[in-house]
Amino acid sequence: MDSIYKCPHCGEKTFNPIKKAFAGQLNSPGKVCMNCGRRCVNGKGATIFNAVYSVIVFALIIIIYLNAPKTAGTAYSWIDVYELYINMGLIVSYFVVPKLVNAFFFRLAPAIRSPH
Ligand SMILES: [Zn+2]
Repeated sequence: MDSIYKCPHCGEKTFNPIKKAFAGQLNSPGKVCMNCGRRCVNGKGATIFNAVYSVIVFALIIIIYLNAPKTAGTAYSWIDVYELYINMGLIVSYFVVPKLVNAFFFRLAPAIRSPH
């Protein structure tokens, strides 16, 4: 089976989940392949996922912020009580989830942007 940790330039499996997690998106400088020295980033799939995920998390934070006070006295009053924690969790997931997705899903692609 074709590995998602293969370098798109030379085809060698030079990436691991940690290195891939920090290789960034299509618009980032990427990480250098240990075999051929060319730079790789997470491809289109990961880039689209991360863009969509960022928008969803951002929307949820706004929705909770605006609506949490209205839940007081209803069955959803826990949202008001835990609003801070829910939003903190969302913000943490905003940074962590794309890294996990980069680490374990989607293929690598050649970096387009130059490092400078
Ligand atoms: Zn390579």
